[in-house]
Amino acid sequence: MLKGSCLCGGIGYEIDGDLGPAMICHCSKCRKANGSAFAVNAQVAVSDFRIVRGRELLSEYESSPGVFRTFCQRCASPLYSRRPSMPDAYRLRVGTLDSEVDIRPQAHIFVASKASWDLICDHIPQFAERP
Ligand SMILES: [Zn+2]
Ligand SMILES: [Zn+2]
Repeated sequence: MLKGSCLCGGIGYEIDGDLGPAMICHCSKCRKANGSAFAVNAQVAVSDFRIVRGRELLSEYESSPGVFRTFCQRCASPLYSRRPSMPDAYRLRVGTLDSEVDIRPQAHIFVASKASWDLICDHIPQFAERP
């Protein structure tokens, strides 16, 4: 089982099972949501994911039609995104995990919209948008 939490610790979650492939997303919305060059996101089954504390602190922002970004309303940590059109999966923000995980990012996505100062210095595949 994996455990994770937001910056203030008010929200805690647990995950059974494995994470899907992790992607490094450089899209403008992940940049804004994280205040950084990119976000590292991995798919997780909704049935494997549970909030164990702080449910009352969860808030959502619909950043694109049909894409909801879930965050802590006290500390603003981004936790996952969800799409009602894909009700079985969340896109977890891997940086909020407290458990060590044995995963490696598989690809850079939305490289076409990365910041000019965002230097990619590894050799994993890059995609202009999605693979
Ligand atoms: Zn928090
Ligand atoms: Zn993104």
